[in-house]
Amino acid sequence: MTFVITSPCLGTQDRACVDACPVDCIHFEAGVDAMLYINPVDCIDCGACQPACPVSAIFPESEVSEEESRFININSLWFEDAAAARVELGTDIEPVVSAEEVAGGASGSGSEDGLVAEELPYQQVDVTQMNLPSSPTPVLSPVSVVALLLLSLSLFTMIMFPGPAVIKPAGTTLEIGLTIILLAPVVALMTIIFIIHQWSQLGNFSAHNSRDISPWRVDVSDWRRSEDSRRADLLDIVQSIAKERFDFPNVDNPDMRTYVNLPEPQMAIEVQGGSRKILPDIVVLDRPGGRPKLIAQVESRETLTREQAKYVWSELQVKDAPLLLYVPSGLAAQAKDYARSAGVKNVQFRTWRRQPDNIRVREVR
Ligand code: SF4
Ligand code: SF4
Repeated sequence: MTFVITSPCLGTQDRACVDACPVDCIHFEAGVDAMLYINPVDCIDCGACQPACPVSAIFPESEVSEEESRFININSLWFEDAAAARVELGTDIEPVVSAEEVAGGASGSGSEDGLVAEELPYQQVDVTQMNLPSSPTPVLSPVSVVALLLLSLSLFTMIMFPGPAVIKPAGTTLEIGLTIILLAPVVALMTIIFIIHQWSQLGNFSAHNSRDISPWRVDVSDWRRSEDSRRADLLDIVQSIAKERFDFPNVDNPDMRTYVNLPEPQMAIEVQGGSRKILPDIVVLDRPGGRPKLIAQVESRETLTREQAKYVWSELQVKDAPLLLYVPSGLAAQAKDYARSAGVKNVQFRTWRRQPDNIRVREVR
């Protein structure tokens, strides 16, 4: 499948999609063409151009309406025979963009002069020199500390000074003292307060450790084999998607580079002005040492969790680099729900499914 530009582009031609495309596969001849065209061979189906279009001219091929379906052929024909595509288009709408405008760099995109390089909001990080993110140390909130103290004090008092017996269950020698009865509600209340105030810490802990082997499992061979097999599975899926969808550099994009951060980190992204470094599963740069064009994160059934959305996906939202999330086939609605509740907005979803010889990826609308 590919994406297709349709009739609303005629007479608009603002080229916003060109800036958004990570593989530079949207073209036209300035001063001659009245619209832009997507090369179906080079398009990697990332969908980044679609939200960039101010007039909603771009659609996945499968969603092009009946009235606009002729643009599927026109888009691909332009890359084989531009003159024939213009005849097929048959419009008398004048081109909006002149050759002089493009020559003068009016679009402001793709420039590699020093000024643009200085303004890059990202920089490469030498991963051999950086401290990789580690699990945050759990911290007790002040309310939790007070609750824990009262809970401990109440339990101590109940055990040491149970008070005069007021309840003696029939048929047993058990005696429940007055102090125990009075302090039992306090113990229950303090336990609830403690859990409520530490809940986010527990979630934080699990999110940052979701891909680690829990220490208590290490000596249990069944668990370890299962966990290792899941990790190997995820690694295989990430590498398959990187190979199939982002196989850079290639003949058409000799400068672009794809980095896969599994099993070992290769390329971290640091947002300028902050201490935050992110390690997405897949990073595509426009050139070695250049800026990120695309970030992709791959989840398996085990790693697709609310915590992953809240603590990992939310960190991957960076300016100008579309985030693609690959989730197992059938779990797209669940992933969208997690993303929504985690406040992750600028994200496009894809599903993956294993095939006998490869991996099948589908766009999610
Ligand atoms: S879908 Fe992605 S690769 Fe294809 S034209 Fe749009 S931005 Fe470019
Ligand atoms: S963003 Fe839309 S209107 Fe602008 S050039 Fe691209 S397809 Fe045409």
